[in-house]
Amino acid sequence: MAVAQIYPDESAKAAAKPRVPLTVWLADLTYTQQTIAADVIPNAIGGIATFSESIVDLPQEIQLFKYPEALAAALNSGSKPDVIGFSNYVWNSDLSYQFACLIKKHLPRTIVVFGGPNYPVKVDEQEVFLRSRPAIDFYIIKEGELAFARLLEALAEASGNVEAVKERHIPSVHALGADGAVHQPEAIQRITDLDLIPSPYVSGRLDSFFDGKLLPIVQTNRGCPFSCTFCVEGVRYYSKVYKNTAEKVAAELDYIGQKMAEARSKGGRNDLFIADSNFAMYKEDIETARQLARTRELYNWPEYINVATGKNQKERVLEASRIIDGALRLSGSVQSLDPQVLENIKRANISAEGLMDLALKASEVGANSYSEIILGLPGDSKEKHFKTVRTVMDAGFTNLYLFQLMFLHGSELGTIESKKSNESVSRYRVLPRCYGHFDVFGERLIAAEIEEICVASNTLSFEDYLECRTLHLVATIFYNDGIFGTLLKLLRLLGVSVFHWI
Ligand code: SF4
Repeated sequence: MAVAQIYPDESAKAAAKPRVPLTVWLADLTYTQQTIAADVIPNAIGGIATFSESIVDLPQEIQLFKYPEALAAALNSGSKPDVIGFSNYVWNSDLSYQFACLIKKHLPRTIVVFGGPNYPVKVDEQEVFLRSRPAIDFYIIKEGELAFARLLEALAEASGNVEAVKERHIPSVHALGADGAVHQPEAIQRITDLDLIPSPYVSGRLDSFFDGKLLPIVQTNRGCPFSCTFCVEGVRYYSKVYKNTAEKVAAELDYIGQKMAEARSKGGRNDLFIADSNFAMYKEDIETARQLARTRELYNWPEYINVATGKNQKERVLEASRIIDGALRLSGSVQSLDPQVLENIKRANISAEGLMDLALKASEVGANSYSEIILGLPGDSKEKHFKTVRTVMDAGFTNLYLFQLMFLHGSELGTIESKKSNESVSRYRVLPRCYGHFDVFGERLIAAEIEEICVASNTLSFEDYLECRTLHLVATIFYNDGIFGTLLKLLRLLGVSVFHWI
């Protein structure tokens, strides 16, 4: 994919910020009625807000929304944003779009922008996506910060002539024009210096989300050097890894530590999510681990850390785990241990043996470990899947997360071409906890998220798929969370295969 070079250089930074007389809202919504389905603090839209405000001069701060009830209340009170941006993930796509439809109906002059990974990679599939969602004025592909700021600038320059902006070539900004033509410029250049994004935590922009229910999320680096075809980050655009400086990470962790201590004193949660794809694979992550150890001393936070640890550099992963003293759960996510499947999903360069060894080492340093396995990857079969589960279980991982292959928009395996070549058979299901209803503009908004999963392919029959799902159910109940921990230990002591017992 071509990438446009319009990165702000030093001279651009020094120049006066262009005035953009628009009120802007950003929403990263979650369902709330069963429980809070996507329970992380909206750090990503916070970064888009602080970055945009550093590039353009807005009349007021960008307002941020997480809970649909808060967005509905703001709309019902008569407030009218000029521009509203929605994050588009598999867990909030329909919810965001239903809000967009009602906004277009009641506030037709409000410009609706979507962005996020839940968007096809192929241009013809992107066109279908846009044509079937007419309430979206603009879709921002790939990294959002710079493209969103450039879009705001263009809207101001065009004095609100949205159709004219749709025809402009703004990298990463896709749109369907009034003439029916679809505009799909190339992706914008990635931000290489993440310190250009002012921390939404330290600037206080996320303070209102420390309510004891939401989980703080930090990102010390962006990108992933691996190319897994089931994953949105596996595409080449994200293959380089760019890092935040140690100073920015330290300042964020210290700020969050203080806020979490306050929230915890009122009964709130006490954990942390690190959004890196390979934590502790890089030497800078050791400094982050030391900083986390300091915040644990100062604020008793974080008690638990949820993160995908590095696929390689096992020794460094273990060192980070020792420094943080057991708060880190080590991930040895193999997805499959079959060499042909690993080659098919472009994961052959990840050492499966190294990941397996992690389980043994994790128990030596007193850390929990988990492994993830996906059923239905290209070339997978019942025999291969059972063998993978057996090997991972017998290696002693504390928890196993057994997934079915989801066809994600934005991933290579999510394309129609890939599904055809593997003769994949799909079924659709509602995502757990992701459905609800909200009252907006005096109307009832009803939304639910539907995911597409693989239930058969040219190497996996539907009957075998069902047998694998039975194994998933039994393993999840009887293996995970240590409920039968004593019995599992006894079996291992006696040399009985845990998998056999399961
Ligand atoms: S290693 Fe993880 S983040 Fe990277 S491409 Fe593979 S699945 Fe995605």
